[in-house]
Amino acid sequence: MSETVEERSLDTWFMDFEVVCRRCQSKWQPPIARFVNSGTDPDARLGILLNTMHQSYCPHCKLKQFIDTTFEYYDRDQNIVIQVRPEWEYKAGGGEKYYLKRFEDLIMKYSKTDVRVDVVFGMKQLIDQYLGGDAAVAAAQDEWNSRREAAKKRHEERTLATEAFEPEAPDGADESDTGTTA
Ligand SMILES: [Zn+2]
Repeated sequence: MSETVEERSLDTWFMDFEVVCRRCQSKWQPPIARFVNSGTDPDARLGILLNTMHQSYCPHCKLKQFIDTTFEYYDRDQNIVIQVRPEWEYKAGGGEKYYLKRFEDLIMKYSKTDVRVDVVFGMKQLIDQYLGGDAAVAAAQDEWNSRREAAKKRHEERTLATEAFEPEAPDGADESDTGTTA
């Protein structure tokens, strides 16, 4: 494969990815991140740690599908591009030798770009080697929970505010006779 080596953009980009539902055979094309810049898209890191990255729901039967495809993750703090490949590839491809081959290809691909590179197989390896392991997963879970709590609280406050501004029913009126006459 002859790929022209040029300086690479480190911007996040997506590509429509065709998925076939393994239960009902429906096809759909969710946009899937092929390159993630964690500096501009910090939520991607959270998605990886919470195991919600690269998942899509069948529009017909709602089955959750995990999209097992290669993507690259740029960690701005460590200035490294990590290519994340499907976990099964490592063994199927021949182990360490396969890793070195992919690693060399990636070095070539980014040879004109001022970053370090590495290749990992599977999200777990990415998390353990570069994102902080189990402690980072626990912290992400906490952050997600507190965000959800905050969102719930905001919703409750909005509901209270709405109720406070709703006009009161006129004296003597009850539910049964409101809105029945024009
Ligand atoms: Zn389906």
